[in-house]
Amino acid sequence: MKCNYCGHKLPDDAIYCDRCGEAFPYEKPQTVSREDIPTHIAEAFIITILCCFPFCIPAIINAARAKQRLQYGDYNVAIEASKNAEFWINFSLIMGGIVYFIYIFSEIF
Ligand SMILES: [Zn+2]
Repeated sequence: MKCNYCGHKLPDDAIYCDRCGEAFPYEKPQTVSREDIPTHIAEAFIITILCCFPFCIPAIINAARAKQRLQYGDYNVAIEASKNAEFWINFSLIMGGIVYFIYIFSEIF
C-alpha cells in the first residue's frame, strides 16, 4: 500500500506512515467474489417473456454482459452491468404494470 498523504510505499498492514507520520485506519483489501455479483439473467428473461417491451432488451444485454464479464474476471464492469440490468428489469416491471393497468381500465370503461 501507499501512504494516502505523501505516497510513501508502506507494508500492507501499516497503521501509520513512517515518513510523514500520518496515521490511517487499516483497510482490508476489497475482495469481490463471483458469487457477490448477481447477473440478473433469469429476471431479464422472465421479464422479457412476461412483457414484450423494448425496455427488456437493455436488461438482457446488461445481464448477458455481466455474465460474460464475470467469466473474464472483470468485476468492475460486471458490477456496472449488473446494476444496469437491475435498473432495466425494474423499469420494465413498472412500465408493464402501467400498461396492464391502462388495459384493464380501458376494458372496464
Ligand atoms: Zn506518508
